[in-house]
Amino acid sequence: MTQITDCIPHIIAPELLEQARQFIAQHQHFVVTAHMSPDGDAVGSALALKQYLEVKGKEAKVVLNDPPGDNLFFIPGYRSDVIVYDNQNDGTPSQKEEAIRAINECDAMIAVDFNTPNRLGEMKEIWMAHHAPKLLLDHHLEPDLERFDICISHPEQAASCELVYRFILELGDDALLNQQIATSLFCGLMTDTGWFVFNTNRPDFHLIMARLMMENVDRENIIKDSHVVPERKKRIEGYLLSQKLHVVREHKAAYMSLSQQEIRRFGHQKGDSEGFVNDPLDIEGVQVSAYFREEKNFVKVSLRSKGEFPVNMIAEKFFNGGGHRNAAGGEYNGSLAQAEAIFVKVLPLFDKYLQ
Ligand code: 5GP
Ligand code: MN
Repeated sequence: MTQITDCIPHIIAPELLEQARQFIAQHQHFVVTAHMSPDGDAVGSALALKQYLEVKGKEAKVVLNDPPGDNLFFIPGYRSDVIVYDNQNDGTPSQKEEAIRAINECDAMIAVDFNTPNRLGEMKEIWMAHHAPKLLLDHHLEPDLERFDICISHPEQAASCELVYRFILELGDDALLNQQIATSLFCGLMTDTGWFVFNTNRPDFHLIMARLMMENVDRENIIKDSHVVPERKKRIEGYLLSQKLHVVREHKAAYMSLSQQEIRRFGHQKGDSEGFVNDPLDIEGVQVSAYFREEKNFVKVSLRSKGEFPVNMIAEKFFNGGGHRNAAGGEYNGSLAQAEAIFVKVLPLFDKYLQ
């Protein structure tokens, strides 16, 4: 009988796969890390790698720059199974020393869901300074090749979790998959595809989903749980859409912003803004959306688009960031009003990408 896995084409270059096989075989103490302000794909792919390495008899710790928001509570172990370098006063005891120790004591590092150490935040220096060899597994464009010893980069993948599954499969370890690993992978696939919308027309994406379901992933409850939000988030969203939404009709764009004063007024917490930038894209005729949130020292910029509109170019050129064609972000050193003004001003340069 044909197995599902027989129908999933292999994508990782054989020489890279062989290097990665040696890398895993020759080391025992792994640190897995992902980008700062970790999202579902970052947490899911890092936890899945940890769980996979443990099944293989290795020691593996997930070390993150800062804690995943409580909006990711549906990922089992999203907080208890990660060590955070800076807990940002989230009420938990500091884990900074534990994080530093984990990095100093490991003999191999895996980087997942980011393409340059700049995305590690405060943890970047200590991570870069450590001599341990570094393996990258990622789906962002243009990886910083010099910073990683083995670079497995596949921007065509819908999520790093998709690549992590293929990595396990192509190493010949599909049989090691269990409910825990499959659940971690499922969570990242769900969030990075916008609940199975983006980049999911490929048949092999669904073969991978079917394979995960064979491990009894509780798909229905995870999806239901992932829609549960604190009351304040719904209220902030309502406020933004009714009071703060600007639609720039002539350039098929829309944007919203949240100031520090509003953040305090509504009791906005880390992770609450997740998804807000997508809302304006539901409006008829809108093809590009921006969301600006005022942080203590900078403005966090989130950009989304439909079709060919390359928001990563706006993020790179004007907001010190990057990302994918339809989902990008960055940080702007200036006021909210300045960030909004730049966005509106550069829109005409991108009219050619509108449909
Ligand atoms: P989000 O808007 O959800 O924060 O980010 C969407 C995507 O934009 C991320 O997956 C990431 O690829 C990219 N991105 C967000 N913020 C930054 C940033 O500060 N720098 C870079 N290089 N990319 C970012
Ligand atoms: Mn991702």
